Amino acid sequence: MLDRFKSKPSKSGAGTRDLFINGAWIKASGGKTFDDFNPTTGALIAHVADANQADVDAAIAAAKTAQPAWATLPPAARAAVFHKAAALFTERMTDFVDAMITETGSGFGKAMFEASLVPVALHEAAGLTTHNIGAILPSQVPGKVNRTVRSPRGVIGAISPWNFPLYLSLRSFIYAMALGNTAVLKPSEDSPLSGGLMIAQLFADAGLPAGVLNVVTTGRDGAPMVGDSFVGSRDVAGLSFTGSTKVGQMLSMACAQAFKPIMLELGGKNPIIVLEDADIDRAVDLAFFGAFLHQGQICMSADRIIVAQPIYQNFLDKLVAKTKNFVPTAPHEQTCVIGPIINDRQLQRIASMVDEAQTQGATIHCGGTTQAPYYTATILTDVSRDMRVWSDEIFGPVTCVVPAQNIEEALAMANDTEYGLSAAIVTTDLAQGEMLAERINAGMVHINDSTVHDEPHCPFSGMGASGGGGKWGPAGAIEAFTTQRWISTQRIAHQLPF
Ligand code: NAD
Repeated sequence: MLDRFKSKPSKSGAGTRDLFINGAWIKASGGKTFDDFNPTTGALIAHVADANQADVDAAIAAAKTAQPAWATLPPAARAAVFHKAAALFTERMTDFVDAMITETGSGFGKAMFEASLVPVALHEAAGLTTHNIGAILPSQVPGKVNRTVRSPRGVIGAISPWNFPLYLSLRSFIYAMALGNTAVLKPSEDSPLSGGLMIAQLFADAGLPAGVLNVVTTGRDGAPMVGDSFVGSRDVAGLSFTGSTKVGQMLSMACAQAFKPIMLELGGKNPIIVLEDADIDRAVDLAFFGAFLHQGQICMSADRIIVAQPIYQNFLDKLVAKTKNFVPTAPHEQTCVIGPIINDRQLQRIASMVDEAQTQGATIHCGGTTQAPYYTATILTDVSRDMRVWSDEIFGPVTCVVPAQNIEEALAMANDTEYGLSAAIVTTDLAQGEMLAERINAGMVHINDSTVHDEPHCPFSGMGASGGGGKWGPAGAIEAFTTQRWISTQRIAHQLPF
């Protein structure tokens, strides 16, 4: 049980949940389980199978066996599974929304938003089955035809985070699967149901052949074993990882040694630049949404809000006034904006970063307190470059507001980070916004919108410590999850030199 709930009794009688391997629900072969808790109440949700090496090996073997037949199915047959999964998901959406609220403390609105992306992504994956995967290239040699063709890589090992458990777990494997790969998914220990086992059931019911998707769950201690297995197994052709920069870097280095591709989507330290000509009320709303949706536990959360000096004070006053209206609220309430923090480790980390910043001279305008399992919505100013709140991903309901004397200074501050996931610019001068966007070191820049934005067909990606290992969207998925071959045909014999 989470430390913060140790004094409360947890609900007993929670059921057990098994692994999904080769189309069947099986117990972990070591007989172990780990506990899945509700982060808001501390109640036990389920005892979840804690896979060991033999289980992971079995899942990889099942995916390997299933792959050739899956890849040679007509595209329409593969697409039909995704369309069916989308239809079933729509029927079960409430179950998934409830699970995200219960298991991860997703506020009702955030859970609905996340769920709304799922059918769109599934139809997008279906469309990928007939996407262009080849080209004809001219040749310098008379009578020669150069073609490129792409084939699925084979088995993809996917590891996903808990914060958008459903959508990010799906994203980690559906495009790979649409392209003819099979997958083993390891969801986060904080979201084994909404991020893994419920998804397995959805695909099983949609008619996915056995072995094409396998889901292995482990406690936190078992995660490195799964990562090592994906990297080390010759039967896993590539990895898809969404999570922290620290773990992503470790896996990336291991994959480099194994000459194995890895699709990486990691952390962020995302800036919003508010230019002098911005509509201040709109900028406040966008900044608030970007900083506090899902209590700031989003890779695209706006940690740094950089505001043109002439409007700085007015902007700050309005943002603080708005933020004070949002008190911690239970996630199942439809009004919830500031819900619980996922676990004690993260709650303590957020508190220590804010306390440390205050000691170093930062001013807290609102929030700054732990009300376990919540952390109050916090706005900091007087933040300097040597503070962790400026340089490290906070992943909580905390944002820093800083003034900029001019556009060049705003840009320099926005780019003063090793991360490069998302950024936003608020301005009424769209041409200026677009020119500035091209100078921000981020994979995604949104003008007059929040840093938090995703559309499944667009190239979601980060630079630097945010990943840079690939892009989502059809083109990026094809690059990440297929192998390209150059095949040439010499139609007319040409003269050889000897
Ligand atoms: P995390 O890195 O702690 O965990 C992510 C996954 O990796 C989990 O399934 C976990 O069990 C697994 N894992 C942990 N240690 C491992 C190891 N040694 N080997 C293999 N797997 C291991 O991240 P989290 O706390 O679940 O998620 C939050 C982080 O994810 C934040 O940094 C956030 O910015 C990032 N994130 C990025 C994106 C994106 O698209 N860029 C999206 C969501 C979250």
